[in-house]
Amino acid sequence: MFDVIIFAGLILAAFAFMEGFAWFTHRYVMHGFMWVWHKSHHEPREGAFELNDLFAVVFAAPAIVAVWLGVNTSLTFMLPIGIGITAYGAVYFLFHDGLVHRRWPMPKARSAYWKRLIQAHRFHHAVNTRDGCVSYGFLMAPPVRKLKEQLKARGVEA
Ligand SMILES: [Zn+2]
Ligand SMILES: [Zn+2]
Repeated sequence: MFDVIIFAGLILAAFAFMEGFAWFTHRYVMHGFMWVWHKSHHEPREGAFELNDLFAVVFAAPAIVAVWLGVNTSLTFMLPIGIGITAYGAVYFLFHDGLVHRRWPMPKARSAYWKRLIQAHRFHHAVNTRDGCVSYGFLMAPPVRKLKEQLKARGVEA
């Protein structure tokens, strides 16, 4: 029983950590030296893919390594961590590429939580330059009213 709780706890911890990691990466890496890739996500997409999609490949690697280590070595705790990272990737993908950017048909979000997050990410896309964007999180975001104020202060009408 105790093992199950630790296993589930590690999945949740990895999932939560990933939101912080995603925020940090989006804020300082994608809107930093990796803007060369991320720029494609702030421009109209030509075709089915954009250069920014390569980040998904990069982020899948640690999850694959963690699962492999958890299954094939004595580092069993790496398995729930790998599952947590994978689960975050799946939810991120459904939310960001599905609900927000509608790259495939998705049912409309009904809950206030998802609606608020969709709005927050739309505000992120209100600015299409490396600097001056707001709201870098995905599954967590500041209140919409606050983001509106930040955009206004930067002279962007949203
Ligand atoms: Zn961005
Ligand atoms: Zn986006």
